[in-house]
Amino acid sequence: MERYDVIIIGGGPAGLTAGLYTSRAGLRSLLLERGMLGGQMANATLVENYPGFPEGIAGSELGSLMHRQAVRYGLEVITAELTGVSEGRPYSVATTGGSFEAAAIIIAIGSEYRKLGVPGEERLSGRGVSYCATCDGFFFRNREVAVVGGGDTAITDALELSQHASKVYVIHRRGQLRAEKALQERAFGHPKLEFIWDTVVEEGTGDQVLEVLKLRNVKTGQQSILKVDGVFVAVGLMPNSQLFFNILEIDDAGYIVTDETMATSALGIFAAGDIRRNSPRQIAAAVGDGVTAAMSAFKYIQEQENGTRRASPRGVATDREQEMSGFTGPWL
Ligand code: NAP
Repeated sequence: MERYDVIIIGGGPAGLTAGLYTSRAGLRSLLLERGMLGGQMANATLVENYPGFPEGIAGSELGSLMHRQAVRYGLEVITAELTGVSEGRPYSVATTGGSFEAAAIIIAIGSEYRKLGVPGEERLSGRGVSYCATCDGFFFRNREVAVVGGGDTAITDALELSQHASKVYVIHRRGQLRAEKALQERAFGHPKLEFIWDTVVEEGTGDQVLEVLKLRNVKTGQQSILKVDGVFVAVGLMPNSQLFFNILEIDDAGYIVTDETMATSALGIFAAGDIRRNSPRQIAAAVGDGVTAAMSAFKYIQEQENGTRRASPRGVATDREQEMSGFTGPWL
């Protein structure tokens, strides 16, 4: 079985940054990505809050730049899906592209789209029901569409869709958006956007493609129908941590519990980005997590080799002296 120092699972900003740092530190590093490099970031038409790009940058471009930078320093990247991780060390990592062995693992698998879970959603998925405005918005030129949700994604999607669609309804279950203020201001003044407050989607109907959304006002209970050609579901993300339930501490919402060094409850396994508990779920934060996880993995491997490994990875997080003595490595 081929052996790596570090295997990174997930090719979003956290994983690619971790790979950049572990590779530059001289660790033999493999990154697995099952889909598109860049993760959720790749779906963002324009990322305006990642430092260093005053005019913003397309998420897919940022992902490809991060990828290029990491492979330049030796990161190996394969397209494969994780199917299991062994409990014992060194870890064996089973994937659809073969099995590998690693001294340390960095989990940066992010999360996937949350579904509404209403009748018609699954059947009409790809036939008017979409989870990615960047991918599918173009198909709704001069059509009427709806976006469900009130967070950054919903408002970013609505603004993006307004470039194609003739009308964009934003259906939100409360009377107030969660999205950041700058986005709200742009959305409220937009002539093509119409907000439908305190309302949930109960069903999507249509013969071959989506034709009608059945809505219910949660305050009055009143039901209504909305004729649209497409609906973009933007109700957040869900952690995809099932494969780790048996080996790691996972919180009730499904996020992997880490300390501030990104160490999980298992020695030599680190988690970074959206998949870890209390992540701010921002690209810049995921990048920071990736750096920390890489440094912690490097330190862990050094300790293993020197035989100075600590007893418990999580216990040491409270010991500032030992904590601060870490992170010596080829980081500059
Ligand atoms: P989010 O912040 O979790 O927002 C999800 C939205 O969907 C909320 O408004 C929520 O309503 C609503 N919702 C959740 N479940 C629902 C359901 N079953 N039915 C109807 N509505 C439901 O998710 P997100 O907008 O995808 O953002 C995820 C993270 O990525 C956030 O941290 C965000 O800041 C970040 N992000 C940043 C950017 C950027 O450009 N800076 C762009 C996209 C995302 P409530 O408000 O009532 O809870």
